[in-house]
Amino acid sequence: MNTKRVLTGMRTTGQLHLGHYVGALKQWVEVQNTGDYDCYFLLADIQALTTHADRPELLTTSVRDVVLDWLAVGLDPTRPNVHFVLQSQVSERAELSIALSMIAGYNEVTRNPTLKAELKDLGKDATIGFIAYPVDQVADIYMVSPTPPESGDKLLVPVGEDQVPHLEYARVLARRFNQKYGKVFVPCEALVGEVGRLVGTDGQAKMSKSKGNTINLADDAKTVESQVMKMFTDPKRIRADMPGDTVNNPVFIYHRAFNPDKDEVADLAERYKKGRVGDVEVKSRLAAVLNNFLDPIRERRAKFEREDLRELLVKGTKAAKEACVPVMQSVREKMHLVYPQ
Ligand code: ATP
Ligand code: MG
Repeated sequence: MNTKRVLTGMRTTGQLHLGHYVGALKQWVEVQNTGDYDCYFLLADIQALTTHADRPELLTTSVRDVVLDWLAVGLDPTRPNVHFVLQSQVSERAELSIALSMIAGYNEVTRNPTLKAELKDLGKDATIGFIAYPVDQVADIYMVSPTPPESGDKLLVPVGEDQVPHLEYARVLARRFNQKYGKVFVPCEALVGEVGRLVGTDGQAKMSKSKGNTINLADDAKTVESQVMKMFTDPKRIRADMPGDTVNNPVFIYHRAFNPDKDEVADLAERYKKGRVGDVEVKSRLAAVLNNFLDPIRERRAKFEREDLRELLVKGTKAAKEACVPVMQSVREKMHLVYPQ
């Protein structure tokens, strides 16, 4: 029997938003539900520190917020194949990260387009920990690499589009390790959903906490409504009777991503292109659609808010540690990190 595992995660920097849902969580729930994969979902608290080292106290609340959001969208760590893992508690993972950093080139890491864009935003505040995060993420993925590796084993990583360069790099580094020291790692594979990158409410390329352009999974109905009403549309369309663009229009992008009534979306788009519908109608419909989508998520969240979440983190983290110990043992042997005879 081949081993099939999923490893993916999120930084614990606050509440999750619709971008996290379409870009990642939707696919996570689907893959969990197939029952074919052992799923390790990582609460990346160490990587949260790459940008939040001045506010470590934020982590404690954020870990809880992220876990609640995960439970609310239907991830279920009471299933035997589902593990919620607290990154900082798997010490072997940190060891793996150091080992991998020895064969990771500075120039190749800093060429990574996602990292480059983020470095631009951070400017002088970027830390060594931040620059090294693409390598640290390779350690995240490979901490649960099936060991010993058999051909046909799978390591699947469901992520948003911005992570694809990181995944390509993970494959490069794993292959390099195998060639230099002997085979330890199986090739990992990215799984990107239909909407790999959700734009922000302001039309910026990515919905992102740091850009303040989010609709959060935990937002109440009023907040969602006011966020939608403030959303950017087609900037060239200044009156409702003017023909408008629906392709690069965030309101329509969200309709396509979240409105289950495809006929309604087609009808609104048709009228918008002809100048026969106002922004207010399109937005009101979107607010209703989003609130319908979020209602069951809110309900589940409220239920889990009353529960003690610690135990399930301890259980999931233990499972990841058990997977990582043989990986790290094998890495130590191959890299000669052992007592001499
Ligand atoms: P934020 O920018 O809001 O702080 P983040 O990018 O730091 O979020 P991560 O923990 O790095 O969050 O990402 C978790 C997962 O969610 C990744 O797979 C990422 O690709 C995905 N993701 C985050 N934002 C979006 C988005 N706007 N659209 C699609 N996927 C997204
Ligand atoms: Mg990110």
